[in-house]
Amino acid sequence: MPLNNKLFSQIPVSEEYIYIAGWKEVSLVDVIDHSSFTLWTSYCNFNCPWCSNSALAKGLERKRVHVKEIISAVKNAADFVDFFHVTGGEPTLQYRPLAYLLRYSREKLGLRTSIATNGSNPYVISKLTSILDHVALDVKAPLNDIGKYSKVIGLPESLTKLFIPRIVESIEASMKTSFLELRTTMVPDLIDVEDIRKIAVILKKFISKAKGRVVFVIQQFIPYEKILNEKYREMKRTEPEKVIEAAEVAAEILPIQVYCRTLEFGTKQI
Ligand code: SF4
Repeated sequence: MPLNNKLFSQIPVSEEYIYIAGWKEVSLVDVIDHSSFTLWTSYCNFNCPWCSNSALAKGLERKRVHVKEIISAVKNAADFVDFFHVTGGEPTLQYRPLAYLLRYSREKLGLRTSIATNGSNPYVISKLTSILDHVALDVKAPLNDIGKYSKVIGLPESLTKLFIPRIVESIEASMKTSFLELRTTMVPDLIDVEDIRKIAVILKKFISKAKGRVVFVIQQFIPYEKILNEKYREMKRTEPEKVIEAAEVAAEILPIQVYCRTLEFGTKQI
């Protein structure tokens, strides 16, 4: 074992640090029907040009925080929330502190646990499924369209080609959790109603493998001021009627609950 790895493996995990952008003690929008303590981790391995958290995804917003500091904040909020939820950025990039925080919150604080992920790291997701009660997994475009997926995640097709089988593996691994939320954002010039139909047809093949509740959420794109890409910062939000139409199309195909999430109407089941 190389020296660095040997040293790393000797550090007790409770002594670890994690790169984060911040947290919110009580959030009502991150886990459907539940309240959560939500933690935003820094860095992402995708480069979505429309990302509403692009500064933290690129690591421009980051602080190195001891896991004990986060545990102390979660403890203070534990009486008011159902879930400890970690989003990003891409939380699976910091596996060891992530696993420690999820396990501690579940086993010592009695909270249910949740992550939001882009699905790029099925190995980590498989290792975490036994301590996760909810996974929110992005299916950003039809999984059989490398060209479109590559545009949506802002990576070359050569890399996207490697990520798509991993996302499929992540969906399969997440089917073992008690609550899987598959999510697609309707980015105005990239994902339309027809793309949502194609995604629903592909997802239908996986649903029979589910061990728990699976839902599909179609989300509106909203041009937050924090988006670093000027084109998307200035773009109009997806028309809510289009999001509802897409969700209705998906609901006709999928034998699961389908939701639409918009600023105008909140999160509504179709
Ligand atoms: S995967 Fe999510 S966090 Fe990462 S760049 Fe894309 S939208 Fe942003």
